Amino acid sequence: MNTVKSISSLKKNIRNFKARNLSIGFVPTMGALHEGHLSLLRKARRENDILILSIFVNPTQFGPHEDFEKYPREEKKDKLLAQKEKVDIIFYPSKETMYPTSFLTNVTVTQITEVLCGIKRKGHFQGVTTVVCKLLNLVEPDILYLGQKDYQQAIVITKMVEDLNINAQIKICPTVREKDGLALSSRNTYLTETQRAEAPILYRSLKEAKKLSEQGELNPSEAIRLISQNIEKNGHGKIEYIECVDAKTLTPIKSFKKDAVIALAVKFGKTRLIDNIIIKVNEKTKTQT
Ligand code: AMP
Repeated sequence: MNTVKSISSLKKNIRNFKARNLSIGFVPTMGALHEGHLSLLRKARRENDILILSIFVNPTQFGPHEDFEKYPREEKKDKLLAQKEKVDIIFYPSKETMYPTSFLTNVTVTQITEVLCGIKRKGHFQGVTTVVCKLLNLVEPDILYLGQKDYQQAIVITKMVEDLNINAQIKICPTVREKDGLALSSRNTYLTETQRAEAPILYRSLKEAKKLSEQGELNPSEAIRLISQNIEKNGHGKIEYIECVDAKTLTPIKSFKKDAVIALAVKFGKTRLIDNIIIKVNEKTKTQT
């Protein structure tokens, strides 16, 4: 495994792989690797000749009052984990490498970034698309692996790749969870013991809402009501949003008659957790028959 910090060295490696016709799988992350990240690495390892992991805590996707400074940084541990997963290259750039003082460009996807997480996290998705666009230009992967955990992010990146004609296939991989259902996240370490004990209510409620729709409930408001009541009576979680949206356009749906996603963001103290569940119309028909 090779840790690469400079753009010139990364490009040299990529040129070499391309000349040898080797396929490249790419997993971009902010580090503090957990089983969620590792599941992406394992899938990418199976499906490609070369596996590239990037670790970069991207300052431009954090708001001014967010956790950029305290975001966990675990370089040594991450390198060991990456080695175990047979990563070929870790791209580990500095802030200055990604954003030299002369930097002037941003990539913006409109509309689908202005809903859900985009409402409270102004500028967040622009930070994400700008850095991911740069990384895709550098790594030139055949396949980009993203987690369903960050559903809106995956849809936004997919749209950017489509709109900007970037040559990468995208695979959105299932959310890896703790035994009690809490989606793995580098931010879970911020939770106090009480908050950690309460947090599994998010996925439990999402599953209950999905079941409700599978039992024939077509009204998304009923699903939202069920989830919010669950969370409110469970403890200290403060709901930022719970929404049922079209799986592609992320616009609110009026009925569970097409593929949808129920997405939510809930704050436990200062820690903001997100989660989602996909509701496929075909699956519903299957369950009902
Ligand atoms: P992050 O380091 O949080 O920016 O995440 C890097 C990638 O890992 C993104 O594509 C995330 O969606 C994905 N990811 C994060 N948590 C999980 C999880 N629990 N299960 C699956 N993928 C995840």
